[in-house]
Amino acid sequence: MVKNDPQLSASSVKPRIGIVGGGMAGSTVALRLAELGIDVVLFEAGKTLVNGPPICHLHAGGNLYREISDEQCITLLRQSIDTLKVYPQTANIRPTVIAIPSRDNGSPSDLFPRLERLQTEYARLIQQNPNNNVLGNAKDYFKLYDRQLLEALAHKDTPKKAITLDDWMIPVAKNLNLDEFKLPLILVQEYGLSIFRIASTVSLAFEKLASSTVLTNTKVIHIQHQQEHPGWRIDYQTNGQAEQSINVDYLINACGYRTGTLDDMHGFQRDRMVEFKAAYIAHWPECQGDWPEVIFHGERGTPDGMAQLTPYPDGYFQLHGMTEEITLFKEGLVASTEKSAQPMLNSLFNRKLTDKWYQSEIERRTAKAVEHVAQFIPDFGRATVGGSPMFGAQQIPGDDPSLRAADVSFAGDRYARAEIVKASSALTVATAIVEQLREEALIAPETAFGNTELSQQFPVTKSLPLEDITSLAEQLAQERACPLALARPVGSHTNTL
Ligand SMILES: Cc1cc2nc3c(=O)[nH]c(=O)nc-3n(C[C@H](O)[C@H](O)[C@H](O)COP(=O)(O)OP(=O)(O)OC[C@H]3O[C@@H](n4cnc5c(N)ncnc54)[C@H](O)[C@@H]3O)c2cc1C
Repeated sequence: MVKNDPQLSASSVKPRIGIVGGGMAGSTVALRLAELGIDVVLFEAGKTLVNGPPICHLHAGGNLYREISDEQCITLLRQSIDTLKVYPQTANIRPTVIAIPSRDNGSPSDLFPRLERLQTEYARLIQQNPNNNVLGNAKDYFKLYDRQLLEALAHKDTPKKAITLDDWMIPVAKNLNLDEFKLPLILVQEYGLSIFRIASTVSLAFEKLASSTVLTNTKVIHIQHQQEHPGWRIDYQTNGQAEQSINVDYLINACGYRTGTLDDMHGFQRDRMVEFKAAYIAHWPECQGDWPEVIFHGERGTPDGMAQLTPYPDGYFQLHGMTEEITLFKEGLVASTEKSAQPMLNSLFNRKLTDKWYQSEIERRTAKAVEHVAQFIPDFGRATVGGSPMFGAQQIPGDDPSLRAADVSFAGDRYARAEIVKASSALTVATAIVEQLREEALIAPETAFGNTELSQQFPVTKSLPLEDITSLAEQLAQERACPLALARPVGSHTNTL
């Protein structure tokens, strides 16, 4: 797709921003700038936008990660609230249940102080701006379920549609053997995200934004800093055809796990890691009722690593298991070196990333993932392979592999890198880049919709009808050989959350 093809060789009076990489980060930055009327050219090597590693969970509080700091959790909460306000149609509105198995060293009470801190912060954000109320009442941010409450729920009929917090808990209460857990179970308002509806939202928005140019099937092969007219020359190839060039006033590197390849083209050094991981799709048609996401905590990298059950409509589930036989891989975490800012995964991973998985691997790892969840939900053992794995490599800037809230870094002249670890951090990158463009006088200080809040600065994106988004999302799911259920909304949506 080549949209709004500008005279790419001509230099413009208005600044032109080049963004390499059309994943969640690059697309969000491009949308933010295009919504402000700034000229952007977005280069994406793949056929469609947001085609990279999976995005299924909105980390509105970071409660999946016991090992990270409270500060990172609060950052993720704030970023998730912004994400829900800008991209309301991409959310799957259902809670998450956190369960601590008896065999685990942790205890539910270890989690309470952080949950209380997050709840207080959420209440404060709502008080500051009532539009921040996107995760339900602050008093319901989390709820504890002790044995008595769970046993009472287990005797109730499963509602066709979950509405109250307790409704969501009924299938869990009916299916988990409570003797195998340290109680209480915790229900928390961490919603889901659909990568397919993110991809369709950004694609539909770009079609309406005249100042954006989206070049898909287009690989950037070289970048050259320009001294005389400050900025960058970008050399690229579309569909493998003859090389073309364009000058831009500012370059944003949003290449995801390949961010180091652009850094290397200019000789920028950067410490970063890349981790290859995969999630699996299972089908459990006998499942009853609307399921919340369920997290069974466990020690990462051991056979008891965390299990994550992410529900979609029609009995489809996405599964993670933080063991080397499921989501993690031996030698799957690599780091940059002094010679190269690009961490190098070995050829086995490159085959998976660029070519395909063997059918036997898909079946073996999906079966392991099903087994891992069935330890806690025995009936889930009947689930079968529901689709191809969803996988990818995740970049982690710096040298702390547990870092989860990261955003942007600047280097050299007129060069920024988007370095998100979680999808919800993309808007923080966009805001920092707008600030930087203002500081460098590339855009006027008044370039904004007055003093309106961030979500009001995406009028085109926010006004897209959910039906149109879902319809294109289903098409994308089909093209990517995934069940259409993964593209369909869960929970009650309004277009303006
Ligand atoms: C198994 C797994 C599960 C995950 N689950 C979640 C989750 O539930 N929630 C969450 O928030 N996050 C999740 N993540 C992390 C999330 O997927 C990533 O943080 C996010 O997708 C990164 O977005 P990005 O735009 O930085 O990178 P990408 O999505 O990788 O986008 C980078 C783009 O750059 C393009 N590109 C690269 N080089 C070039 C070039 N030279 N020319 C042109 N284009 C180029 C690529 O084609 C690619 O499309 C998960 C990651 C993994 C691996």
